[in-house]
Amino acid sequence: MSKYNLFSKKKLGILDIIGIPVHYCPFYTISIAVVSFFSGIVPTLSLLATSHFINSSILFFTEGLGGTHIKMSVLAIILCTVYLSFSPLLMEYLNRKLENSLMENFSVSLIGRIASLKYEYLEDDSSLDLISRVSRQPETQCVKSYGQALGAFSLILKIIGIMSVLLFNVAWAALAIALIAIPTFRIAIRGGKENYEANRECEKHIRKAGYLSEILTGRNAAKERTLFNFSKKVNDWWHKQYEIARNIKFKASLKWLKESEIGGTLTSLLIAVIILILVFPLKTDLLSIGLFISIVNSILSLIPDLAWQLPEYTEAIAESKEYLEDFTKLLSLKYKNEYLCVPSENPTTLYRIEFRNVTFRYPGTQRDVLKNLNLIIERGMHYALVGANGSGKTTITKLLTGLYEEFEGDILINGISIKTYSQQELKSMFAIVYQDFAKYEISLKDNIALGDVNSYSTQRLEEAIEESGLKELVQELPRGIESSIGRIVKESIDLSGGQWQRVAIARTLVSNASLRILDEPTAALDPVKESQLYENFEKINHGKTTLLISHRLASTKLADVIYVIEEGTVSEQGNFDELMKINGSYAEMFHSQRRWYENEN
Ligand code: ADP
Repeated sequence: MSKYNLFSKKKLGILDIIGIPVHYCPFYTISIAVVSFFSGIVPTLSLLATSHFINSSILFFTEGLGGTHIKMSVLAIILCTVYLSFSPLLMEYLNRKLENSLMENFSVSLIGRIASLKYEYLEDDSSLDLISRVSRQPETQCVKSYGQALGAFSLILKIIGIMSVLLFNVAWAALAIALIAIPTFRIAIRGGKENYEANRECEKHIRKAGYLSEILTGRNAAKERTLFNFSKKVNDWWHKQYEIARNIKFKASLKWLKESEIGGTLTSLLIAVIILILVFPLKTDLLSIGLFISIVNSILSLIPDLAWQLPEYTEAIAESKEYLEDFTKLLSLKYKNEYLCVPSENPTTLYRIEFRNVTFRYPGTQRDVLKNLNLIIERGMHYALVGANGSGKTTITKLLTGLYEEFEGDILINGISIKTYSQQELKSMFAIVYQDFAKYEISLKDNIALGDVNSYSTQRLEEAIEESGLKELVQELPRGIESSIGRIVKESIDLSGGQWQRVAIARTLVSNASLRILDEPTAALDPVKESQLYENFEKINHGKTTLLISHRLASTKLADVIYVIEEGTVSEQGNFDELMKINGSYAEMFHSQRRWYENEN
């Protein structure tokens, strides 16, 4: 028997509604199936016991016979009733256990898979929507689907049981009920599909609304929100997105409700007619009184089942099928398990990096962002990338660090193609301060130590604090480097923009990587701290290779080689003096910044 492996499947089908829980949590899954099975057959047993009880009682009171039969059928009725009232509670307990257990293994594996997706999907809206749909409480989705499938199974057992009794006694009534069930079924399946499609459409608007709500209530935009007083305007945008999402959902559920209500009313009417018709076989002794009463009873209990329960189950199953289709799409996204590994403990030393005729466009776009780009980075030297916004500077760093792997031309690291290096090796080579660096609201120490997840020495941590200019701050903090920073817990201390940026710089300094990439690393620093950082640049980077992206051209004076990037290609290169001498774009940009300072004076 081949082993069930969810994450290596090409396509998920309706059977995976059962396959997933059975694989991840067989005990509770099977227990739920057993309870459902009995919930399906007990109503038929109860029907037979009731009919037997009525017939035996009539016999006992008219002819004084069958006392033991009465006792046996009463016992059977009691057992059935106890089971039927106890099973929902048992089912609830088992469902919770199953959900809990799936959270531990299935959801964790799914999150692992999502975390190992190629980086390009995280910059693409439709992939982000898909990820958000699939990863929203997958364990609940899974338990719900399984529960609904078993609910339907148990209901079908119940219907088959009652119908079989009918079939043996009055076949046409059984056939009539079967005919009623088919259209109800079809309406439900269509409803389920429409509902999920509506959900899918909603997701886009919910994501936008979520983002706008973050602007309205979050901390990032708090100052600007107060200053520009744009809450009302953003609120209107939020409301618009929210309304669109609500309307789509409302329309879909209204349509479903109308259809199921018509179906439900028709079902109830038809069943009432069938009950009336059953009076005839009773008259002609084709049906005993006991069987007539208990069949009528059972058919009455089938009304809500057929009218509401069954359509609801089938709708939910159709929804689950759509979820599985999304899951299949997620499984088709490119991933690598190695994206999850930590950087190698023994970082590869970088001697030389060469971009050779590199041309690159983002997946799904038509424009080359890098065009035949050539540049060289040598060990121990300082480099700067300058150029207008959108010229491709950050894209160069994304390719260099392996975030995008498909490009034309070659990127050679120590003379070997970047494609031959493992993610672990690549990650160990680079430390980066991003323009939009992250602010982790944890302790200052952990914040900095994240720069080296393998190991860091206290000495390196202290050096990083000193070199990034954080020493004074650490002395002022109540618990020193152990203090929580941010606002997430009450005793946390919030930092200024510049302090946060220095924390991000310290994170890079603590890393063992041999190339440090600094993307606008001083934008939030005050002029004194910025100058200090650049004055200490050589000392801080003790012999490391650095790649600085900056619009402050004065800071690029420190670089051994400056690459000017224009429309995805290197238009000028050389040190500061050389570039000033050729009097090209760099010199023009430099003069225009200098003029600004001189006019100020
Ligand atoms: P720079 O860092 O020089 O300001 P970038 O490298 O960030 O420029 O961007 C270069 C170009 O690539 C820009 O036109 C930008 O719009 C485009 N771009 C950046 N990221 C993506 C993406 N994920 N998908 C499509 N286009 C992108």
